[in-house]
Amino acid sequence: MTSAALAHAESLIASIPDFPEPGVLFRDISPLLADAAALRTVVDAVIAPFAGEFDVVAGVEARGFMLAGAVAIAAGVGMAPIRKAGKLPRPAASVSYALEYGTAQIEMSDDLPRGTRVLLVDDILATGGTLRAGQQLLAELGLELAGTAVLMELASLGGQEVAGPVHAVFRV
Ligand code: AMP
Repeated sequence: MTSAALAHAESLIASIPDFPEPGVLFRDISPLLADAAALRTVVDAVIAPFAGEFDVVAGVEARGFMLAGAVAIAAGVGMAPIRKAGKLPRPAASVSYALEYGTAQIEMSDDLPRGTRVLLVDDILATGGTLRAGQQLLAELGLELAGTAVLMELASLGGQEVAGPVHAVFRV
């Protein structure tokens, strides 16, 4: 994982103004995911600080799933989905959190033994509310947080204060 490879991977994240609403600069990781070398580079970079320290990767719906599966295979561990409310047939824990307008709720099944070391991943750290809720979900289920990681941190939004420390492969 060279710095040139990381720089190339970062260049593949597209920035789309005013999506999904005016004023939001949406960071689209799809072009990065579509590039085999870039995907491998960022997966390795997500794992590096936590190598050997986690038993399972948990990904937050929906773009966190894409990363979590790849990270899990590369690290030789399993994967656990954290889903939006109402999607899981057997939700065991549920956490609500504030959005700019309204609230959101995420849920997880009770599939992992207590004390399992979980690496929590998502694509973007913005305000930190989503990952904070994910961390609370893991705690409710008696799971150990091995670390929290994202591809990109939007530093001006202060997410590290809410959900930190979060390992971010890229920081803008
Ligand atoms: P937050 O809870 O504010 O940290 O928001 C993080 C979640 O919202 C992640 O699951 C991201 O996928 C998504 N998100 C927030 N802001 C952006 C953005 N500018 N571009 C793409 N996704 C975003």
